[in-house]
Amino acid sequence: MNPLYQQMQTSVFERMSALAAQHGAVNLGQGFPDFGWPDEILDVAAKALTTGSNQYPPSRGIMPLREAVATHYHRHFGQPLTAEQVCVTSGATEALGAAILATVQAGDEVIIFTPAYDSYAPMIRRAGGTPVEIALQPPGWRIEKDVLQGAVTPRTRAILFNNPHNPAGRVFDRGELEAVASVAREHDLVVISDEVWEHVVLDGSSFTPLATLAGMAERTIKIGSAGKIFSLTGWKVGWMVAAPELANVVARAHQFLTFSTAPNLQAAVAYGLEQGDAWIQPMRDRFQRSRDRMTEGLRNAGFAVLEADATYFLCVDLSASGIGLDDEAFAITAVERAGIAVVPLSAFAERNPPRHLVRLCFGKKDETIDAGVAAMARAKEMLP
Ligand code: PMP
Ligand code: GLN
Repeated sequence: MNPLYQQMQTSVFERMSALAAQHGAVNLGQGFPDFGWPDEILDVAAKALTTGSNQYPPSRGIMPLREAVATHYHRHFGQPLTAEQVCVTSGATEALGAAILATVQAGDEVIIFTPAYDSYAPMIRRAGGTPVEIALQPPGWRIEKDVLQGAVTPRTRAILFNNPHNPAGRVFDRGELEAVASVAREHDLVVISDEVWEHVVLDGSSFTPLATLAGMAERTIKIGSAGKIFSLTGWKVGWMVAAPELANVVARAHQFLTFSTAPNLQAAVAYGLEQGDAWIQPMRDRFQRSRDRMTEGLRNAGFAVLEADATYFLCVDLSASGIGLDDEAFAITAVERAGIAVVPLSAFAERNPPRHLVRLCFGKKDETIDAGVAAMARAKEMLP
């Protein structure tokens, strides 16, 4: 048995969703919306299931989807991409795994910014590397160039960057992107840029792909996910985009992870990326309304809520809300006794994680938000 997995805990998302189901709690833990997917895309998928192929598609993805990814990014961000630069994966999680396996070797260090998505550190370790954490500090969660520069050693191979950031709920600004880019250029690093939340930006804020910065297209492996763009997290259709040679190497890692991804879902995602530009702004408006509703409800119940203008997550500061429990103890008590599942932020870092913050998913219908806020208020009343 591999001790890495023997000592590992079940993912925080799985754990909190299971507890939510067990206790009949409102589940604002694991991030998935309970509304918002476009019906048209479901119709295309259903049709593709009955009239299209149900056999192995090419490992790198069906050509219409690879072309749709390339043209989508050209249209939205002006990137001159071709289908050869795209490899379709089973969700962003697999793309991250393939990108890490393809770039990291034994002894390499990979810089990650914490709080970080939970698969980063275990996958870096499995590839033989060491994750080097840079802790972003709430409430601003800013990347400081000198701190990043100071984390680079002769062993540093890559930076694993996530923008817009889950769970901070923010888009990094131009200065922060330039900091990442200049450190990567100066030390000849690869950047695995997890941009799955690229379209979920609120309050009119805008997102810039890292690969569009000077000198970055050739060293960036960009990761995207239809799960976020179309609110279809269960489909697990994702992709990575990189310069042709880098893309070839990642595609070889992917071919021995999942080989390929359901062809009918790929066809529907291709349709969505081509035809669905008009769905994006209404999605943002809807999530923004949900965020405002949840923020107001939580503040009225006496919670300190951090600002969030990207993703569908917000963080609550427990200590500033007058709650003495740490995040994990609060999460367990809240799900068992108050009927609300949240995610403790300490699950997103290994070294000195923040223990006073919990994450809530606001990508929910009004009634789910209201039930969640009422349960949070109950939790607050019953806790020290
Ligand atoms: N990266 C980040 C930052 C995420 O938030 C998520 C999902 N919430 C993923 C990767 C995984 O995406 P997928 O479901 O497409 O595997
Ligand atoms: N990425 C999702 C989140 O942040 C969860 C993904 C998962 O459950 N693996 O909530």
